[in-house]
Amino acid sequence: MSKKGLLVVISAPSGTGKDALIECLSQKAPDIFKSISATTREMRVGEKEGVDYYFTTKENFEKLIADEEVVEYTKYCNNYYGSPKAPIMENLEKGRDVVLKIEVEGAMNIRRMFPDSVLIFVLPPSIEELKKRLDKRGTEDECTIEKRMKRARTEVTYAGEYDYLVVNDDLSRAAEQLMDIIKAEKLKTFRNHDIIKSILVD
Ligand code: 5GP
Repeated sequence: MSKKGLLVVISAPSGTGKDALIECLSQKAPDIFKSISATTREMRVGEKEGVDYYFTTKENFEKLIADEEVVEYTKYCNNYYGSPKAPIMENLEKGRDVVLKIEVEGAMNIRRMFPDSVLIFVLPPSIEELKKRLDKRGTEDECTIEKRMKRARTEVTYAGEYDYLVVNDDLSRAAEQLMDIIKAEKLKTFRNHDIIKSILVD
């Protein structure tokens, strides 16, 4: 019997450095499938269609919702963001682990739909550091830094709902911690009943 992949959700307030962190995770574990979300927000300088996001219109996004082609979606700073269903389901079925990089509401919805999913919350070293990182980024035309800071504080109140907390004070160490979590989760007994059964049958 082939085993399904692990569904890993990573949430972090905007400016926590999660893109760099997930990039680092991908390098350490290239077999993990990174879900690419659809969004109606403007493309930022340096972003690429189909790499960072699938950039789309509000009308198209609403069609994706109506056709149930997103597994979850949310509105964040007046833009839609959602996770395309087909690639996630296909990869999980093939036994490949899937990472979703989504905000807290989406994460809570995934937890309801996929109770076996693993939820990881990434924290910045401090709120001052978060503000510094957002200021430095200088890309926030679509939503002010103040709004993102306010949202960041709200998001941190959800951290207790997650299975794991990782503090991103050192990129490589934080990525190692993500790897450790994934490795340990895959060894959980409830995910390995088939091994127990196969031994009992022989
Ligand atoms: P950004 O505009 O900074 O790329 O993303 C804003 C927020 O939306 C981030 O917290 C990001 O993780 C979240 N996000 C990105 N894609 C999705 C998605 O498909 N679903 C949900 N629920 N949140 C998403």
